[in-house]
Amino acid sequence: MELSRPRGTRDFLFEEMKQRKQVEATLKKVFETYAYEEIKTPLFENLSLFTMKSGEEIVDQLYNFKDKSDREITLRPELTAPVARLYMNEMQKSPKPIKMYYYGSCFRYERPQKGRYRQFWQFGCEMIGGKTPEADAEIIAMASQSLEELNLQGYEIHVGHLGILRGLLKEADVEGPDQDQIMALIDKGELEELQNYLKTVNIDEDTAHVLLMIIEMKGGSEVLEKVREKVSDKKLVIEALDEFSHLIDTLNDFGIDNIGDHENNNVVINLGIARGLDYYSGMVFEIYVPRLGAQKQICGGGTYNLVEIFGGEKVESTGFAFGFDRLMNALMHDKKDEKPVPTIEVFVAPISDSTRNKSFQIAQQLRKAGIPTEVDLARKKFKKLLSYADRLGANKVILVGERDLKEGNVTIKNMETGKQDSVQADKVLEHILDGR
Ligand code: ATP
Ligand code: MG
Repeated sequence: MELSRPRGTRDFLFEEMKQRKQVEATLKKVFETYAYEEIKTPLFENLSLFTMKSGEEIVDQLYNFKDKSDREITLRPELTAPVARLYMNEMQKSPKPIKMYYYGSCFRYERPQKGRYRQFWQFGCEMIGGKTPEADAEIIAMASQSLEELNLQGYEIHVGHLGILRGLLKEADVEGPDQDQIMALIDKGELEELQNYLKTVNIDEDTAHVLLMIIEMKGGSEVLEKVREKVSDKKLVIEALDEFSHLIDTLNDFGIDNIGDHENNNVVINLGIARGLDYYSGMVFEIYVPRLGAQKQICGGGTYNLVEIFGGEKVESTGFAFGFDRLMNALMHDKKDEKPVPTIEVFVAPISDSTRNKSFQIAQQLRKAGIPTEVDLARKKFKKLLSYADRLGANKVILVGERDLKEGNVTIKNMETGKQDSVQADKVLEHILDGR
């Protein structure tokens, strides 16, 4: 019998689950503060949902299969396309913008390593029908506030605009698959291959030179002025630059200023962001935690026109997803030494067999009052009961002894101070609540 886990998957134990739940709750709170509402879509979708926009190559990365009726199905690799599908199916007539968030697992057939799994979780959002650049600015502000509230240290939010690179290529008549291939090479940071590829497409030397310069540019709004000087005759690029400048100004109003100033802010303009997928069109952003090494990207997003690709009308959409597992890796890196959170508050310890029934009754009374309580179910010897309660992190142990009980009493031991109180058995709940 094969008992090992499938490659690239993980089990999560108690402590890790608690930490993950806490982070999930913080993100939920922030997203809801920005008026997003939660949705849930299926774990599997029709394969065509993902091949339609990204072509057949993406199948290599998918967990796809035929179901018993020969339908082509795949586990979802991400949630932007499912949410766009949901919008097409259910929400086209809803007032806009529609703000949705999700938390769920995704599946990709990847080469597993730290921060790269075959089942992983994304916490993300989509805003359908907001107008850029204000929609873009608000989304970046929300991503930023999320990380502040999680108290994450040492992250960088890199913001770019695909209209600049795509505009430049389009003006040089590089379109379609050639353009996509160039964007993919930029995304992967494969500079040498990019240079070689540029030689094979029909692109003038000057444009190639400007392109290679732009993808290296990072900093504050001065970066945009520098590019502007080089592309003054290229209308599409100037349009994208104008839109991007407007976004940077709007970000100011959303409380993100000093962009590019490392001391006072962790937002930088980075014109080399290309994003892997073909459906992104305007603003794009990625968040990095450099200490995570190769898997440093904890978040990715931008504006896209997926609804139009699916045959709907053009509706401006912006979204992003935190790679939840990488975010956890980054946060745990910061708080390795924190003490685990205790599981329970009270442990009820029957000291002899005859007091078990009463112990169960006391435990139930406390649980119904919402007090996390454990009672001995393993018939442990008295000696073992206290050390076990201590291991669970109980701060009160209720010792239910035969002689005590005959007089209508139990003993409550405070595990922190060691102090013991004799309490009437029918006053246990009051005593515990008083001592909280
Ligand atoms: P990468 O380039 O690292 O593969 P990606 O560009 O494929 O990332 P997206 O599709 O934008 O990633 O997904 C959003 C986020 O999900 C990423 O920023 C990353 O944090 C996380 N992510 C992507 N793939 C994985 C994976 N296999 N395991 C864990 N997290 C992942
Ligand atoms: Mg990937």
